[in-house]
Amino acid sequence: MAQDVKVSCTCGKVKGVIRGLARANSNHVQCPCKGCQSYAHYLDRAGDMMDGVGYSNIFQIDPASYEIHEGHDHLACVRMTPKGPLRWFTDCCKTPLGNTLPKGGIPFIGVLPICTGHKGTDPAVVDMVGPVRAVANEKRPQSFGEKFKTWGMLAHLMRLTIWWRIRGGKSWKPFFDKDTLRPIRKPITISDAEREALEAKVI
Ligand SMILES: [Zn+2]
Ligand SMILES: [Zn+2]
Repeated sequence: MAQDVKVSCTCGKVKGVIRGLARANSNHVQCPCKGCQSYAHYLDRAGDMMDGVGYSNIFQIDPASYEIHEGHDHLACVRMTPKGPLRWFTDCCKTPLGNTLPKGGIPFIGVLPICTGHKGTDPAVVDMVGPVRAVANEKRPQSFGEKFKTWGMLAHLMRLTIWWRIRGGKSWKPFFDKDTLRPIRKPITISDAEREALEAKVI
């Protein structure tokens, strides 16, 4: 069942909502990639963002349904690698808000559940967006069944993205400029030394 889900950073300065969130219009995945793990360590919130073996739960949604109502001054974003996604977070209390492509246009945002008040492993996340469909960016060998699930997940995501694009046009909310489609904050680029230190914690 679709529900409006409140978004808040941990200290409460940044507030918003995700409209009409449901299993059918979201894509719940897990990601064990180096970038996601480094990011959790960058924010110093590994326990809130990952399970015990380095997998982050993420649900991908139409960014048009994601509204920020308060605390715009605290929005920030970082790239873990020069070509990596923009990872949006709050600078007040280091709460991850969502990961986007480097430019607006294609409707896609991957939300880390902790901004809805739930750790990724919390059953409340399954209540909101259904069970994990598949693992994205899996490096270990997968069985045929697991590969099949991944293909199904990707097909689901592609269908959703095409539908969101047809319905909403070029995506810009909530983190891009409507006219230029450029990010509303200059992304922080971390130094090579900082990246190496973070990647040393990746499992
Ligand atoms: Zn905060
Ligand atoms: Zn990842």
